[in-house]
Amino acid sequence: MNCGCSSSNARSDASAAIVSRSLDPAAAVRRLSVPACAKINFGLALVGRRPDGNHELQSVFVPLDLADDLQLELAPSAGAEVTLVVESEAGTPGGVIPSDDRNLAVRAGRAFLERSGLHFSLAIRLSKRIPVAAGLGGGSSDAGAVLRTLDEAFPDAVDPGTLAGIALELGADVPFFLDPRPAWVGGIGERIEPLPVWPEFALVLLNPGISLSTAEVFRATDVLRSALTPPGAAPTLRSLREIAGIVASNRPDALASLLSNDLLPAAVRLCPPVARLQQRLRDAGASMVGMSGSGPTVFGVFGNADEAHEAVERMQTVAPIWARVALGAKSG
Ligand code: ATP
Repeated sequence: MNCGCSSSNARSDASAAIVSRSLDPAAAVRRLSVPACAKINFGLALVGRRPDGNHELQSVFVPLDLADDLQLELAPSAGAEVTLVVESEAGTPGGVIPSDDRNLAVRAGRAFLERSGLHFSLAIRLSKRIPVAAGLGGGSSDAGAVLRTLDEAFPDAVDPGTLAGIALELGADVPFFLDPRPAWVGGIGERIEPLPVWPEFALVLLNPGISLSTAEVFRATDVLRSALTPPGAAPTLRSLREIAGIVASNRPDALASLLSNDLLPAAVRLCPPVARLQQRLRDAGASMVGMSGSGPTVFGVFGNADEAHEAVERMQTVAPIWARVALGAKSG
């Protein structure tokens, strides 16, 4: 499956975009088109806290074929101006998305141009299909897509370490989107180890049409855990080797054991429909059910895309509930 974003796919898609750029000889304007894929977290464990307050996590990140679309236009310029126009596909959940310097795509473009010292202006047109503040990494993916596209367009402009540093400064999930493929992710998001084996999954995504702030879910999780967790209780650590073993066993019960999400109790408390939507997925025949990131988007795993589409039809969801079939990328 081509998610348009998984590792080699991401590289080849970005390259294709660059090869197919239209080069206006008069103005040397480059026009690039690039997808920015969503991700799900196939399980998420909070395993520690850094002195700066950031949570350390362990999670399996899986890119999806659900993607925003970015059109970038680069033109030689005395300064490094970055502009953005955003449009959202009808029915995409989420509030108003900023189009100024608060937008991660703008910040990514500006950071790259400033660090590289390139004299270009960048005009971005962003078509949102990924629900906003939904746990699907949409903003981070837009930023990652801008960075990797500019890096492809100007290969020697910044070194790989600087690029990785810019990504992490923009957000904990952005480094993953520099080269999205199924991966074990640790630290605050900067430790990324691609999984040698990961199967393709057909998923149904459900979102209640309510945005959930990641920071708020983490705060509520801290409150719940300080009340419930016995001091000194050790988190369950999943090493990459252990995850690879679970995947290689191909046993659904073993894979399902990866799916717990430490942010789920707080997300359900802040957004009770999360639990109801997970139950709807089970009732519709999902073999495994999880919540992505800090929610509120939940997902169910189905045997194949046809079964997933049939489940969406059976569920007869109505607005504001958003339902989509998506394919998760496999390794390789
Ligand atoms: P995270 O868990 O990283 O916060 P998320 O997937 O839950 O991510 P996003 O869709 O990235 O949520 O949106 C989080 C916030 O980021 C929103 O409040 C939104 O206004 C802001 N934001 C900034 N840039 C973007 C962007 N390009 N697309 C979507 N949201 C953006």
